[in-house]
Amino acid sequence: MPELPEMEAWRRALDDPVRAFPVEKAGPAHVATLKTFDPPLAALEGRRLKGAERRGKRLLFPTDDDELVLLVHLMTAGRLRYLRPGEKGPKSPAFRLRFQDGAELVLTEAGSKKRAGVWLLTPEQADAELAHLGPEALGLGAGRLAEILRADSRRLHSLLRDQRAIAGIGRAWANEILHHAKLSPFALSTQLEPDEVERLAEAIDSELARGLELRERGAGDKQVYRVHKRLGEPCYVCGTPLARVDYEEHTVYYCSRCQTGGRVLKDRRLSRLLK
Ligand SMILES: [Zn+2]
Repeated sequence: MPELPEMEAWRRALDDPVRAFPVEKAGPAHVATLKTFDPPLAALEGRRLKGAERRGKRLLFPTDDDELVLLVHLMTAGRLRYLRPGEKGPKSPAFRLRFQDGAELVLTEAGSKKRAGVWLLTPEQADAELAHLGPEALGLGAGRLAEILRADSRRLHSLLRDQRAIAGIGRAWANEILHHAKLSPFALSTQLEPDEVERLAEAIDSELARGLELRERGAGDKQVYRVHKRLGEPCYVCGTPLARVDYEEHTVYYCSRCQTGGRVLKDRRLSRLLK
């Protein structure tokens, strides 16, 4: 799933192109992709977008008259493409926005499950839609992070992924951040020492910034992720083969030497079943 670095790279790339020309045609949209019907998509036609904004993993495209906001959430399999005038695109995208110069913004989604979403909202509706999100992960800082960790006793991997607590981190960047911070994915948020909180805050910033810089240069997953999906490959810090454990609906990657004091973690789904 695209997370903060991926979506922020997209936002920066789209900010100028989407405001160059007014919208000529909004839609069609797959029935499962378009989550709203009032205001209708056609209300975008003839209006100009103000640019691209981002909140957590969502992109927002407000109109320059401040009356409407197009909100896009790619979920796991959604992908955005910006097609220059005349450039060939997918035949039946999940959503399409055509500009007056002929350029298009298209959303595609692999697989039969349509989970990515497009919302057309008033600014008030958009605020309500985003109200549950926690503060942005990038630039959070140790003070604010300490409050979030104290507020709820949770496993770190799970807490970092919770958009209500912190917005923008998913399973891939949770793996990268916790490895960089040398913290166990299953450490309890309320049991961290002050220096561990500092390390975690620093890791959130430096890893997300590293990801953003690489994504802006067009780097793929293999270049960006150093821990995520690298089972058995040597840890980039100590050389120990990286380990993997299934937890909740996710797979967690970690280094047993750097993060868990040499302990190999048991599969938590399996151990629950065996109790
Ligand atoms: Zn290591």
